[in-house]
Amino acid sequence: MAIRFVTSNEGKVREAREYLSEPVEQVDYDYTEIQHDELEAIAAFGAREAFEHLGGTDPVLVDDAGLFVDVFDGFPGPYSAYVEDTVGVEGVRALVATRDDDRARFRTVLAYYDGDEVATFDGAVQGRIVDPRGDGGFGYDPIFEHDGRTLAEMSTAEKNAISHRGRALAKFADWLADEPAERKGPR
Ligand code: IMP
Repeated sequence: MAIRFVTSNEGKVREAREYLSEPVEQVDYDYTEIQHDELEAIAAFGAREAFEHLGGTDPVLVDDAGLFVDVFDGFPGPYSAYVEDTVGVEGVRALVATRDDDRARFRTVLAYYDGDEVATFDGAVQGRIVDPRGDGGFGYDPIFEHDGRTLAEMSTAEKNAISHRGRALAKFADWLADEPAERKGPR
């Protein structure tokens, strides 16, 4: 039995595998990303839909993340994937460079669903939007600086230790450890 991480993003899977002791299976299913200003709602909807579509009993995990730029009142937030595809990571950096405030936050919500009820876990990290540096990570990592280094300049373990996803995974791992065995399935 494994946790089915429903994502096409191998970077997310790498970070989850590094963190969790349970086996994590990557499942590539394009669940509906509803339009909503709360990551929780998007992730929870996706987890339910994926579990119902995939069938089986193994629990599913969905991760919805976003970059929230202070000077743009949190934009792109839940629209970060669309903005990465259209404006691009360097385009976002260029937009922020036109303003005098480069502060931003990355957030992730993990939604876990095993057919019983959805549990969500969030994590956030503060940083600054800078010119791209580093070749690790994925997505906005090269332009997101935390404590003097971009997330793309960190190893997976270093990123997990300070990142939005690492914090959400820590809460999730604690919760899993405390859950009664019947909720976790025969793992
Ligand atoms: P989604 O959660 O897959 O919808 O991702 C939203 C956007 O944020 C996409 O453009 C991802 O590439 C990007 N993204 C998600 N997680 C991270 C991360 O940990 N670092 C940098 N970019 C990320």
